[in-house]
Amino acid sequence: MSEQTLLTAWQSARDRLKQAGVETPAFDARLMLEAGAGVSRMDILTDPHRALNAQQAQAVEKLVARREAREPAAYILGKKAFWKYELTVTPSVLTPRPETELLVEAALEQLRPDAPLKVLDLGVGSGAIAIALLLERRKISMVGVDKSAEALAIARFNAVALHVADRLELRESDWGADLPDAEFDLVVSNPPYVRHGAIDLLAPEIARHEPRLALDGGRDGLEAYRALLPQVRRLLKQGGGFLVEIGEGQAEAVWAHATAAGLSPEGVRNDLSGRARVVFGRNLGRAPG
Ligand code: GLN
Repeated sequence: MSEQTLLTAWQSARDRLKQAGVETPAFDARLMLEAGAGVSRMDILTDPHRALNAQQAQAVEKLVARREAREPAAYILGKKAFWKYELTVTPSVLTPRPETELLVEAALEQLRPDAPLKVLDLGVGSGAIAIALLLERRKISMVGVDKSAEALAIARFNAVALHVADRLELRESDWGADLPDAEFDLVVSNPPYVRHGAIDLLAPEIARHEPRLALDGGRDGLEAYRALLPQVRRLLKQGGGFLVEIGEGQAEAVWAHATAAGLSPEGVRNDLSGRARVVFGRNLGRAPG
């Protein structure tokens, strides 16, 4: 193989990723080149004809081959940007999605800056939501629960790295079933909401690589809501708020399940493309059913 430069390595990686069906081939090719060759974006832009040595070329090749096989870039790089920071991720956790930032935004509107509120994250995963809230609201403390011990280890790692571990209690739990009643001012969750039968129709990055536990919402995609909303009702203080992320077309059903659980849904938040993405509301102390 003739000698590669930053530019030719980028171009050939981009072409291969495009061929493989990767959605953002130029961007991902640059990420693989930067990580494999140990160069910055600036190096590529200002010194495009710099030659790669054999070791660099080999390292880039390995990363590009993985991405070509549709492994998510976040798992290859071991990190993913979310909100204003960067999280460590592994295949044990869902890679944080940009759309989940909407949940963070909506939750922040409910958290007055200086109030020492208690917030619960059901299905904390990588810690993305919890850590964003803890970083934005210095007086709150949080509990994050997950069924996956591996996920809790990643959340712990991220909380320590981002200096919020002292305000985040992490525990292995089934939607908070073991937590005491009326403990929280706010509950947030991005539960698994993909219909079981639809998972294999998603992009190979998701279907083949992301944890099923974090995706699989059962037969109709709503099983997690049916399990967790009654817990939310029990765990919230009177007047406390909840926000849950939802999948496409699920707003009405989730609203109904919240009502059935004794919660009082109040609204939905749409993403930039106009899709309902978050259902929010309160515990006004109504009886379930
Ligand atoms: N937004 C994810 C996806 O469809 C699903 C995440 C979830 O189930 N909470 O890729």
